[in-house]
Amino acid sequence: MITLLAPLAGWSTPLAEVPDEVFAACLLGDGLAIDPTAETLHAPCDGELVLVAASGHAVTVRTPDGCDVLLHVGIDTVGLAGEGFKVHVAQGARVHAGDALLSFDLDLLARRARSLLTPVIVTAERGFQVLRRSLDRAVAVGDFLMEIGPATASVTATAPAVAPAAAPALTRRVRVKLGHGIHARPAALLVASVRNVAAEVRVAAHGRHANARSTVALMALGVQHGDEIELSASGPDAAAALEAMAAVLSVPAPAPTPASAARAVPTAAAATVPADGMLAGVTASPGLGVGEAVQLRRPEPQVRETGADPATEDALLARARAAVRVQLERAAQGRDGPGRDAAREIATAHLALLDDPELVSGAGALVRAGKSAGFAWRSTLRAAAQALLQLPDPRLRERADDLLDLESQVLVVLQGEAGGTAPQLMAHSIVIARELLPSQLLALDGSRIAGIGLAGGGATSHVSIIAAAMGIPTLVALGPAVLAIADGTSLVLDGGRGVLETRPGPARLARARGEVAALSTRRTSELAAAQRESRTADGIRIEVFANIGSLAEAAAAVKHGAEGCGLLRTEFLFLDRQSAPSEREQTAAYEAIATALGARPLTIRTLDAGGDKPIAYLPLPPEENPALGLRGVRTGLAFPELLRTQLRAVLALRARTRCRLLLPMITDVEDLRAVRALLDEACRELRSAAELEVGVMIETPAAALLADSLARAADFLSIGTNDLTQYTLAMDRGHPQLAARLDALHPAVLHLIARTAQAARAHGRHTAVCGGLASEALAAPLLIGLGVNELSAVPAVIPQLKARIGSVTLAQCRELAQQALKADTAAAVRELLARALPPVEAPP
Ligand code: PEP
Ligand code: MG
Repeated sequence: MITLLAPLAGWSTPLAEVPDEVFAACLLGDGLAIDPTAETLHAPCDGELVLVAASGHAVTVRTPDGCDVLLHVGIDTVGLAGEGFKVHVAQGARVHAGDALLSFDLDLLARRARSLLTPVIVTAERGFQVLRRSLDRAVAVGDFLMEIGPATASVTATAPAVAPAAAPALTRRVRVKLGHGIHARPAALLVASVRNVAAEVRVAAHGRHANARSTVALMALGVQHGDEIELSASGPDAAAALEAMAAVLSVPAPAPTPASAARAVPTAAAATVPADGMLAGVTASPGLGVGEAVQLRRPEPQVRETGADPATEDALLARARAAVRVQLERAAQGRDGPGRDAAREIATAHLALLDDPELVSGAGALVRAGKSAGFAWRSTLRAAAQALLQLPDPRLRERADDLLDLESQVLVVLQGEAGGTAPQLMAHSIVIARELLPSQLLALDGSRIAGIGLAGGGATSHVSIIAAAMGIPTLVALGPAVLAIADGTSLVLDGGRGVLETRPGPARLARARGEVAALSTRRTSELAAAQRESRTADGIRIEVFANIGSLAEAAAAVKHGAEGCGLLRTEFLFLDRQSAPSEREQTAAYEAIATALGARPLTIRTLDAGGDKPIAYLPLPPEENPALGLRGVRTGLAFPELLRTQLRAVLALRARTRCRLLLPMITDVEDLRAVRALLDEACRELRSAAELEVGVMIETPAAALLADSLARAADFLSIGTNDLTQYTLAMDRGHPQLAARLDALHPAVLHLIARTAQAARAHGRHTAVCGGLASEALAAPLLIGLGVNELSAVPAVIPQLKARIGSVTLAQCRELAQQALKADTAAAVRELLARALPPVEAPP
């Protein structure tokens, strides 16, 4: 029997409360966590310090019986790269219970770490288990914490052998299945996959090596889909590290749609101005803009090469990075508005780069070699950006922009120029630049920008995403000729055709201004009419709801006349992070969305993970065929704690707002029963009755064929035509070559929709469509004719959708549906709709 004493003063807490699935789900081993009230971590027992993390945030003590105890200060503290930590004992030292191991700055961690909770883990591999523990009470250093004994036979038998820290590296060769190779997102996922392992992890490809904890170094390897690479890991959990990395790399990413793939490739003709003054570019954001050119040049702060002394320069750089971190954290939680959602995501990505260990250590090395802080930071980021620019994948090249943006943000702070340098724009400016940084665009007054034309850039770059979210027509890859346009030149930027007209002439200018004005008037009148309740021409009520995936989209939905939310994709809360959101965090996020929707109903879909939506921190096994594997409700039932937390979060909200629950990827009524059992359990724990409507998504042919049984058991049905089409036609929804044939208007899909709506009606249930087909205004009369009562669409099309619904009678809709059900192909259905439904006039 081994007794562990409290290594830290604080409050002892169950591991389940640690906001990191790796600890909470005991993936590293069993134990508990301490919420610290002091700043020194002590040895919990006698033993050898077999591991001291380089960043000083974690240590592992091996008891004389060979049990490894991991002490991990805070969550996500490895990212602090040692900042705020002071280690008192070297790796390999023998320690006695109560010896001080390391100290940390509690204030700094409180500001910068995801959580202060400090897990004390009996690692799973060495054949020990926790027999008794002291939970939910205040503990002082030296108090009893846990009693440990040998694990039961089954645990020890399967425990893998542990390699000593100095053992040679384990290696594994893997072929990268990710659709676009290791670009920014997979690099981040890879880094996340090894965040909580102690092993040294590296990736080798094309004769180069990268630290697997550095997104920049990983991206710079230039690994493409199908490349064979070598993973290596050394240290106590090397095998687990290899497993985690291989799992990330084996997930095939969805291929680009033909549209986005085509847009990402600049045209060869873009570099010269043809005689007619028309410059061809690539559309990053559609729409028409008319205005005067404003050339924007990126500020180029001057830096000294030689530094003062390394300690001073190091401190200067640390302070500048800290200041930028504060700005970015503010932006990451910024207010809502056009483009702000994208801006928040980008700030989050920049935050990760700011603390990238390769960048920080690269700049640190230059400072130690006598360079100034600014020179060190600029040289390191430019070298990393240069490496990205050499790569063939345009998505990776576009990420070089983010590095240059970060370079500029830190240099501006270093030189004390924070804020106030953005140029003042006149109304109707067409902003021209070689490249535009996200922070530059966000500093401008968007209401004065009529268009953006960039010589370089890419349609999927972050600045393009922000411009599209702000609704600014934008062309990229216009070539260097665009930089010669004089300030004040009148321009027409046609985002629809991908052309910048540099010599439009008075007649063209007048016509284009007329088009912009007409479009804006039409949008205004459609928007105003969209606030009315949606009815067919003969007064049949059809609810028009919105699909949303964030708070900003909830506001956009209301603005566009949504009568509720028919699908909240909760994935937005779970992706791009290292652990699942807590119950409280989820309730707060759902509540904010419910508040934005006012009294309108909110349909919360439970996490639809797996398939094309992998989640790094869920230990999903690699699957040969993820679209047919653990996804949707199956993932929730495979990780019941995850689903339970989400159900509790929704139940907490239910008391205060009109919400209903929607379950994705249902096969049959058994899935629904399993979730209802968890829901009942959550209600019992919360001592509340479940007055929550529970709907099922009809996304599999099985669910559509069994709609009668599902309609009897569920409160409503909602048809996900994206997946229903993929599974009915046996065509991958992300397959570029099949995209043109993957049409939800295929008669086979329409028959399943008709059957679903009929079954729902027979049981007095409501049928919604929340898949992409509901966002096609032309399809609305057909869906209504098939018996659908609610359409849930992307916010922007709602005004158009309502106008279309108001233009037809129920009898016309039914007639259309009967004819469509007799068609042989999707093309025939489209032809029928085009013939039967003339364009709708804008409402008065
Ligand atoms: C669908 O499949 O139609 C649907 C709405 O779900 P998602 O697109 O999120 O898979
Ligand atoms: Mg779906």
